[in-house]
Amino acid sequence: MSSVKKAQPKLDSSAGKLLFLGSILEQNIFPFPKIKDEEAETLRMILDSIDKFMQPKAADFKQYDEEGAQPSEYIEALKELGLFGLIIPESFDGLGLSNTGYSRVLQHTSRYDSSTSLTVGAHSSIGMKGLLLFGTDAQKKKYLPKLASGEMIAAFCLTEPGSGSDAGSIKTNATCNPDGSWTLNGEKIWITNGPLADFFTVFARTEGEQGKLTAFIIERSFGGLTTGPKEDKMGIRASATSTVHFENTRVPAECVLGEPGKGFKIAMSILNNGRTGLGGGCVGGMKRCIEMAVRQASERKQFGKSISEFGLIKEKISQMTVNCFATESVVSMVGHYIDSGLDDFSVEAAISKVFASESLWSVAHEALQIAGGNGFMKEYPYEVVVRDSRINLIFEGTNEILRLYIGLSGLKDAGEYLKEISSSVGKIFDDPIKGFGVLSRDATKRVTGLTSIGREKLSCVHPALREQASVYEEYTQRLSRASEELLRRYKKEIIGQQFPTKRVADIAIDLFVGLCVLSRVTSLLEERGAEKCAEELSIAHIFTQQAKRRMNQNIRRLIQNEDDEMRTLSDFIVGKGGYPWDTI
Ligand SMILES: Cc1cc2nc3c(=O)[nH]c(=O)nc-3n(C[C@H](O)[C@H](O)[C@H](O)COP(=O)(O)OP(=O)(O)OC[C@H]3O[C@@H](n4cnc5c(N)ncnc54)[C@H](O)[C@@H]3O)c2cc1C
Repeated sequence: MSSVKKAQPKLDSSAGKLLFLGSILEQNIFPFPKIKDEEAETLRMILDSIDKFMQPKAADFKQYDEEGAQPSEYIEALKELGLFGLIIPESFDGLGLSNTGYSRVLQHTSRYDSSTSLTVGAHSSIGMKGLLLFGTDAQKKKYLPKLASGEMIAAFCLTEPGSGSDAGSIKTNATCNPDGSWTLNGEKIWITNGPLADFFTVFARTEGEQGKLTAFIIERSFGGLTTGPKEDKMGIRASATSTVHFENTRVPAECVLGEPGKGFKIAMSILNNGRTGLGGGCVGGMKRCIEMAVRQASERKQFGKSISEFGLIKEKISQMTVNCFATESVVSMVGHYIDSGLDDFSVEAAISKVFASESLWSVAHEALQIAGGNGFMKEYPYEVVVRDSRINLIFEGTNEILRLYIGLSGLKDAGEYLKEISSSVGKIFDDPIKGFGVLSRDATKRVTGLTSIGREKLSCVHPALREQASVYEEYTQRLSRASEELLRRYKKEIIGQQFPTKRVADIAIDLFVGLCVLSRVTSLLEERGAEKCAEELSIAHIFTQQAKRRMNQNIRRLIQNEDDEMRTLSDFIVGKGGYPWDTI
């Protein structure tokens, strides 16, 4: 094993972006992160109290889902459990968990009820995360103890009727008064915890229509803030979602969060930092689905056998397991990046969100399928898991936007490397599509300092995984060649080329998730020895073979594809107003 194994993560480098340059930053992927013993002890106690509290409540959760609300006594009980103070430092009366520990807790709550995870998660992951990341000492001192106890519940207010993915186009405006205070007007929609919250992180435009965004801390008690009725939703129905309306809301000068004019960057940082909450929730949802599916497959008999004996059911159960293991691996890695103080993990965080949400969606779908007709009945919990899991592909950045972000961020760094075309490519990536997030800087330094283009050999992977390692080595190199080819072909027009951008993003997703799996299995092999890791080796093998097929397909389709016809057909159908054919 190489000495790199003991190295600390390289704080100014992104392993995800470097893949586009043909480089695997082993130092940031190996060894697989481990929760510290001290935190593990605290976590066990928290998980135990969650079990005691949530396990007997299955019937209540069903009722909350039907009624579309969590009663106030339930919210009070969550406060008593300390679930609103998970990531708040102990010095401010919170539990002081790391991002990894926090994610593990949300995983556990999600095994019982996704709406509970969302109420707690929206508070911590996005509602008050900005205060933790950008708040002044005075702001923290004033609000964190109340947020830790749940006396104040937090909400994150970015989305508006005319501004979803295009977060940079919000219209809520803030005018600065002569005394330094601000007056806010505007409307936010679909705000999780809106009806419960007393603490709102709000984004508004501060310098006229074309001006920049500024983040504010707004208390309900400031006045001029009203929340609409709870939205009637498809899933996570018990979690409270509403509009938040500002009418001449007067905000004291000291409630600006971070620097005025930096609101867009703050919003993206909050979303990036919050991704382990959503990822942890997805892992918990998958573990729940696997448990239900295994029970059903063992108990249900058809054709004189348990259905678990049929090949097509076995295929589903093993695929669900591979998805869950891979998601757990990538979410843990991203949690570790955040906890290590890495500068730039936005691509890896986006990869974990896309992979986690799509894995849960497919696992929930398969769990329901294994249950057959029972799966479709409200009497069983399959349909609620399917309904609840769908939102993860939409909120905190849709998966389409995040794929474009992954692809364009990686291509930006590759573009900067390709010096001969960087003058025409470099600039346009600085703001690829307002709303995609904050792109990295200083790529040239990283490229020259850290990487050498060409096939690299992974040195930290366990010898039992050598064959798998060579797949990632080969496809990292192929990704860099494909990126170079795309940049040469499209130059600055790459910004509008969504089909190939998605394909390189998908390759990066497979590479990064696969490398996290190899890292985890390597650590397990070193701890326990190969003879005790047969199943983990199988998971690494299955994931890698599947990833290889997908990556191969994505590389081939960069050249041979039906993209032009797909675009033309879509334009035709949109022009017709719908599907124009019939058989009569
Ligand atoms: C239950 C729920 C809770 C929510 N909680 C919060 C919250 O607490 N705070 C908050 O601020 N917001 C919240 N949201 C809003 C959520 O973040 C947005 O719904 C999300 O960002 C997508 O915006 P949109 O719904 O307007 O979709 P749109 O932006 O209109 O997108 C519609 C479709 O077009 C695609 N699309 C858009 N632009 C592009 C592009 N450039 N290229 C390719 N495809 C594109 C999208 O991927 C999507 O498939 C919540 C939403 C829901 C449903």
